[in-house]
Amino acid sequence: MTKQSGDQLVLKLFKDSNALLRGHFKLTSGKHSEWYFEKIRLIENPAALEKLVDLLADKIRREVPDFDYVVSPAYGAIAIGFLAALKLGKKFAFSQRAEEKMTIRSGFSGLEGSRAVIVEDILTTGGSIQEVVACLKERQVAVAGIYVLVDRSGGAVPIEGKPVGSLLALKVEAFEPDACPFCDQELPITKPGASDKKT
Ligand SMILES: [Zn+2]
Repeated sequence: MTKQSGDQLVLKLFKDSNALLRGHFKLTSGKHSEWYFEKIRLIENPAALEKLVDLLADKIRREVPDFDYVVSPAYGAIAIGFLAALKLGKKFAFSQRAEEKMTIRSGFSGLEGSRAVIVEDILTTGGSIQEVVACLKERQVAVAGIYVLVDRSGGAVPIEGKPVGSLLALKVEAFEPDACPFCDQELPITKPGASDKKT
């Protein structure tokens, strides 16, 4: 793991909540990695999550002077975005998939023509955030900022030409199975989250 930015406190908060695991993991991509973020640990530890969201909210407050909504994609990021909106004194809305397409329910009042900050848990390829941006545009919502707790691209994935703000930006190395140093050491591999995913 190459640490690019972020501070020791953030790292400690992730480790304390067991959201940052070290070992030998098979990622959804099929590649192998030494590190894995178990996002669900953040949701099931509200007190630990709140400390991280406090730091994220401070950063958003400093960097984005004027916006109306925090918007997060369902489901994992809802708790994070909701808590951030509460701390920032803003409204909250979430996007969700309906028949594969990312959408925002029409029931959120005042979203049209507003300014929104997108809050997501982890940035890997930026795919889901791009989809949130697209559905906000459909509702004439201006994207005032994009923030994640962890940027796994190490700052390498700008969205809409803008950098994504994060508490922790780190590049997690992923290895092809036939070139994995941990396979070479015959370390047992785990596939996180495999129990609740259709494979
Ligand atoms: Zn391996």
